[in-house]
Amino acid sequence: MDPDVVLAIMNIVLAGMFGAVIGSFTNVCIYRIPEHRTVVKGHSMCMTCGHELGALDLVPIFSWLFLGGKCRYCKTPISSRYIKIESLTALMYMVMAATHLSMFLDPMDVDPMKNIFPFIELCALFIMINIVIVEMMIQHDTGSSMYRLSLALGIDFAVQVISRILGVATDESVSGELCEKLASWGVEILVGAVIAFAAVVLAVLLANRPKELSKYFHDSKYRAVRTSDVFAIVLGACIGIIPAAVAATVYLIGRIMIGNKKSVKYLGIVLASGAAVGYFAYCAFQVI
Ligand SMILES: [Zn+2]
Repeated sequence: MDPDVVLAIMNIVLAGMFGAVIGSFTNVCIYRIPEHRTVVKGHSMCMTCGHELGALDLVPIFSWLFLGGKCRYCKTPISSRYIKIESLTALMYMVMAATHLSMFLDPMDVDPMKNIFPFIELCALFIMINIVIVEMMIQHDTGSSMYRLSLALGIDFAVQVISRILGVATDESVSGELCEKLASWGVEILVGAVIAFAAVVLAVLLANRPKELSKYFHDSKYRAVRTSDVFAIVLGACIGIIPAAVAATVYLIGRIMIGNKKSVKYLGIVLASGAAVGYFAYCAFQVI
């Protein structure tokens, strides 16, 4: 087999294992953050019998499978959410690693600078995935509004902006094309935001009767909807034209179906999935 293929598979598998471990930590965050407990200290224990869990009980994905989804000590069934989140994180990390393969395949010693910015971007995406999952599940459990998610996306956006600007600024070969590059990148963000904004305006017009439209902007009843809409626009701006179009379409359909109901908080999950599909489709499109 081609050594590059072996190396690629190895990196994707390693990313999956890393993702499963981070997914396990994600579960800890989901349960402890709403209770204002620390996520860095303390042993995990069974929620029913309180038995402290050993190393064998804490292997991501596999412990749940080998124990048949039951506590080793009291045999109480354990929520399948643990394995679902660990598997989801592992899968997302594998896909992310697959879309950044050139970073792993190019030898670092030839041009270390070349790999630093894709690496920062990959880390930002890893962090973003976990923040989105943690926030989504906490929102799901508590039914609170989505402002923290928008904040998280804002932070990710800032990281990506900084990494891209540094990438452009330190690449000698493009110093002449610097303005051109920044301009085309700015256009991409602008168009992504415009697409998302258009979808949101359309959804607002269709979901609210024109008479009620002014209430949409100041009535606290619409707070969750508004936060969700802002989130859609921010995400649209973050991910580029093609993924933004996919995410905006998904958001538009979901938003019209849900209207202004409380369940609009679930729309974030739909939007995040749509954005992920769009992002991967975009990467696949670029590879072809
Ligand atoms: Zn137990």
